[in-house]
Amino acid sequence: MEDFRCMNHSQEPAVAQCRRCGKPVCEHCYDPETGCCRDRCGVMNNGSSMPYKQRSTAWTIVVSLLAIVGGLALLLITICGALIFSY
Ligand SMILES: [Zn+2]
Ligand SMILES: [Zn+2]
Repeated sequence: MEDFRCMNHSQEPAVAQCRRCGKPVCEHCYDPETGCCRDRCGVMNNGSSMPYKQRSTAWTIVVSLLAIVGGLALLLITICGALIFSY
């Protein structure tokens, strides 16, 4: 178990492995609540809500664009149908 030491403190023996990045962490760096290292993945965990929000915003834009395109297509089909039926 020579290599199984904290990634931040090379003197400290690792008590656990980070659930997210898999790095060995000592009891000071390990967060039992999240099962992750405090320094990296604790911060990453807080910051990960931002990209998710951005992605969901992008999805909202895509969905609204699709809705607009679908509405236009429906309108076009209705107009074409009316033109065809008028002949
Ligand atoms: Zn980690
Ligand atoms: Zn440590």
